[in-house]
Amino acid sequence: MLPLQSRIVAVPINFLNTPIDYLTGVGQARASLLKKELGIETYGDLANFFPNRYVDRTQFHKINQLVPDTTQVQIIGKLIGLSNAGSGKATRLVATLADDTGRMELVWFKGQKYFKDSLKINEIYVVYGKVTRYGAMYSIAHPDIELAREYKNRQQTAMTPVYPSTEMLVKRQLTNRYFVRLMRQLFSEIKTAFVETLPEHVMTAQQLITKNAAMQEIHFPSSAQALKQAMRRLKFEELFFIQLELLLQNRIRKTQIKSYAFAIVGDHFNNFYNYNLPFELTGAQKRVVKEIRADMANGAHMNRLLQGDVGSGKTIVAVLTCLLAIDNGFQACIMAPTEILAQQHYAGVSDLLAPTGLKVALLTGSVKTKDRRAIHTSLEDGSLDILIGTHALIEPKVKFQNLGVAIVDEQHRFGVAQRAKLWKKNKLPPHVLVMTATPIPRTLAMSLYGDLDISVIDELPPGRKEIKTVHRYDKNRLAVFKFIRDEIKKGRQVYIVYPLIQESETLDYKDLMDGYESIVREFPLPEYKVSIVHGQMKPEDKDHEMQRFVEGTTQIMVATTVIEVGVNVPNASVMIIESAERFGLSQLHQLRGRVGRGADQSFCILMTGHKLSAEAKTRLETMVATTDGFKIAEVDLKLRGPGDIMGTRQSGVMDLRIADIVKDNELLAIARKAATNFLQEDPAIGMEKNSNVRRVMNFLQHKKGLWKYIS
Ligand code: ADP
Ligand code: MG
Repeated sequence: MLPLQSRIVAVPINFLNTPIDYLTGVGQARASLLKKELGIETYGDLANFFPNRYVDRTQFHKINQLVPDTTQVQIIGKLIGLSNAGSGKATRLVATLADDTGRMELVWFKGQKYFKDSLKINEIYVVYGKVTRYGAMYSIAHPDIELAREYKNRQQTAMTPVYPSTEMLVKRQLTNRYFVRLMRQLFSEIKTAFVETLPEHVMTAQQLITKNAAMQEIHFPSSAQALKQAMRRLKFEELFFIQLELLLQNRIRKTQIKSYAFAIVGDHFNNFYNYNLPFELTGAQKRVVKEIRADMANGAHMNRLLQGDVGSGKTIVAVLTCLLAIDNGFQACIMAPTEILAQQHYAGVSDLLAPTGLKVALLTGSVKTKDRRAIHTSLEDGSLDILIGTHALIEPKVKFQNLGVAIVDEQHRFGVAQRAKLWKKNKLPPHVLVMTATPIPRTLAMSLYGDLDISVIDELPPGRKEIKTVHRYDKNRLAVFKFIRDEIKKGRQVYIVYPLIQESETLDYKDLMDGYESIVREFPLPEYKVSIVHGQMKPEDKDHEMQRFVEGTTQIMVATTVIEVGVNVPNASVMIIESAERFGLSQLHQLRGRVGRGADQSFCILMTGHKLSAEAKTRLETMVATTDGFKIAEVDLKLRGPGDIMGTRQSGVMDLRIADIVKDNELLAIARKAATNFLQEDPAIGMEKNSNVRRVMNFLQHKKGLWKYIS
């Protein structure tokens, strides 16, 4: 699928649809390269290939003023040497450039022959690129290079566009200069071919320039001010149509996708609520249960995101949701991302529901065939009420008699496609509740998941003490050990977590085992007992160790991040995270959430080596400064960008051409508001003044089936 922006542009059947090889300067070979590398097939696609930044090409640097690894610089100088260097894979072409202050190198790894043949010794060149330093010598790899007299023939601007590139494009000499030239050619042919996509009244209200003006200015800025307006116009357009689409999808789901109406609040729910709740629900939990109840009662399909920080009490909400389904004659399932978490859910839910006589089963990869068969049978004959498990729940053999609600915990580890599989088992899609402890700032969540409804548990159960968090360097380890001993003396338990990332597993295991051994040495039997849990252990062994820690037989749990989600040991009050600089913020936050679950003061100690990147420092400082999941999420978002949040890559919303959901957060809110107002005034997009929008939306919805909206 093409990115949305180019689909918008392709709306009018005009010569923006002309294949790109018709353009002067693009032959067959380059056309297929443009298609393969950038997805550019038509004039319209090319016009929508936007610069990712602009540079000042009127200024020159002197070689003796260069600072490595800063932004790109432009230098004018004489080419005084050109030769091949290195051998085998390391072969490269090296040129020496001199100005009146010094010398530097230019290096090519790709296209060596081309540059060797075309560059001329003793000519004056203008080069442009990013400077690095090797030894005493400055160098630029794959610079933009051009004869000075050619450079001077063209008018240079302070806002020369820089187009995104790829390794292959570099290799085949499709330089930035090529793209600048190509754009000039393109716009001389298409002139003002862009059809306006926004209605006059929206443009006036938002003070936006026209589509044609914006397209022109984005490639050939006439002033900084004009460029700013062009960007604002194009970003707004992009965000506006995405929001419109999301709002329409939400409406379609609510009006056209039926699901089972859970009209009854019956004995299961009421008895449990009145007699079996182990604690009083918080106000936030009550509110969220109400929202879910209302949503499942009206016959429309529920697709709801339940956000709640670690420890906010999502499990009980899940249980009450299941009971509503059961009261109405349906089954429920809870899907968890890991075996341990599924087991904990199973243990917790079974405990809670023990007085009710309802049937709950656990299905994971390690359930024996015989038990598995029994589960299949009781699922199909309807005698099983709640099935809890891992990915095993979506295997083809698992058939519910009547699944009424699917609860997905920590959805960011589940693909959207996997969720859809669950639904194929029903006549109607079951209601879906996605639970996540990854907080997303609310405005962003609304925009990312405009087609999802959102419930937030924004209140922790009473009596929780704020977890004290500190950062310690490895050299302070002895003091940390003493602290652990003191806490254990008070009867507390301690987690020590080691990083484990896929690529360097072997090394990480060595760290983990070394760490374990040193802990056992430091905390010897019989006074201390130490558990260890990691991903390469057999599930039974893992379980056994986990169990010993849960029961308090062992005081220290050495583990990898397998304990990250869900695990609940209220007596554990110290979380030590080794090599904390290697964890992402949300992971650190999740890990810290394992403590602070009991009545005692809890602590989190972030251990690191001495050398830290700026980003790692920010992460650690953030963790020390706050325990607020939403604040942490905001910092995380700024550091990482939104791409990694909860499977957003699959959602398509992130296919943004020009807007940036983090940096353009304000404009996003404006666009959402504008889209909401727009639909309020003209729900059917039928008004004459909105014909531009109708044309675009018709085009966008051309080929989409309903299924897309619920999966
Ligand atoms: P999470 O949202 O992280 O899944 P859990 O559902 O595991 O949180 O709840 C965390 C802990 O808080 C559990 O021990 C649970 O029993 C307890 N809990 C949940 N809700 C309440 C409440 N309203 N009052 C007291 N304790 C609660
Ligand atoms: Mg949980």
